Amino acid sequence: MEAATGKKMEQVIQFAERVSHISVSPTMVVLQAADRLKAQGIDVADFGAGEPDFPTPDHIKRAAVKALDENRTKYTPTAGIAPLRQAICEWHAAQLGSSYQPAEAIVTAGGKHAVFNTVAALVGPGDEVVIPAPYWVSYPDIVKCSDGTPVILETHADDGFILRAAQLEKAITPRTRIVIVNSPSNPTGAVIPSDEFARLVKVCRRRGVWLLADECYSHFTYGDAKPFSVGSLPGARDTAIIAGSVSKTFAMTGWRLGYVLGPEPLVQAITKLQSQSTSNVNSITQYAALAAMRGPMDSVATMLAEYARRRERILAGLRAIPGITCTGPQGAFYVFPNVSAHLTAAMPDDNAVAKQLLEREHVAVVPGEAFGAPGHLRISYATSMERIEEGLRRMGRFFGRAT
Ligand code: PLP
Repeated sequence: MEAATGKKMEQVIQFAERVSHISVSPTMVVLQAADRLKAQGIDVADFGAGEPDFPTPDHIKRAAVKALDENRTKYTPTAGIAPLRQAICEWHAAQLGSSYQPAEAIVTAGGKHAVFNTVAALVGPGDEVVIPAPYWVSYPDIVKCSDGTPVILETHADDGFILRAAQLEKAITPRTRIVIVNSPSNPTGAVIPSDEFARLVKVCRRRGVWLLADECYSHFTYGDAKPFSVGSLPGARDTAIIAGSVSKTFAMTGWRLGYVLGPEPLVQAITKLQSQSTSNVNSITQYAALAAMRGPMDSVATMLAEYARRRERILAGLRAIPGITCTGPQGAFYVFPNVSAHLTAAMPDDNAVAKQLLEREHVAVVPGEAFGAPGHLRISYATSMERIEEGLRRMGRFFGRAT
């Protein structure tokens, strides 16, 4: 029936304006294109995924099975089961030096939901949210969902893509409500030094702006960079809001659990919003996350050691390709090479590079434009060393030299 086709439906349904203001996550678009090739039996070197290639640790899975066996299948309080809120605060204090109480914690359906709910609670029409670029793809669209205005603030490769307090100060206007920082960063791997964080807090406090820290990669840091939370800074509590997640730290992306730590009135406002939308996070997932928070951290150390090895290899391989420059990431599991020296009339931008790389060499990467940084590619090294070697061979061939 013609009227039932997607095309026809688009013509007849009048959507709310916010739907036309946002787009499907560009990382999802790449993943889908790569999946289509894989479905045809093509061997894709896939660097698109932003998720650990490790399984969820056994003790976490066992806790979920136990919860099911014990019929923990009912509604829970919207903000999460009491032991989990307590465990999140204790884990965050032990790992990252904060001092939150359970009433200052809410469990959300992932880190994305934590950011979404926080923005929804604080931002309205005309309000501005400062987002340093390169940024995680979802931030601008999340702000637009609340009818806010994303204000993009460019950071620079020669300064390690670090947001500086002096730069932030200039971008703040009377309409600014939040600045979103993501350290370690997706896509650059940049880690904001703790003294810069202290300066950012100072500026935000002085100007009456919230500092929303997305800590979803907190435990994946390399070299001198160490796990750090703005929540550990004295006096940050009335200015900082923390969005965290078990997705990356415990290889639990599909389980969907994150959290917000912040002032109690804000947590109450988010709870109100959540009570009229998603309600509580899946009860079984909450028991699994409780085991994660209370259990050993050795799986995190194992993953980190492997990411560190891959990081070395991919960085060396990319830097060996003429015309490619790449800042050394200090955290997360991405590299963000600049490929602008390879742009040509036939391949005029990073979208074209990503498209041709997929079509000609079956290598999946995400174009930098999606992160507000044209001329770059985001390459996830949350994949095996064998795939990294194969991908580097193909990219070497594509860009003109074997690595
Ligand atoms: N924040 C950043 C910077 C991310 O890269 C991601 C996922 O890629 C998330 C948040 C969301 O993670 P989740 O919703 O799975 O916790």
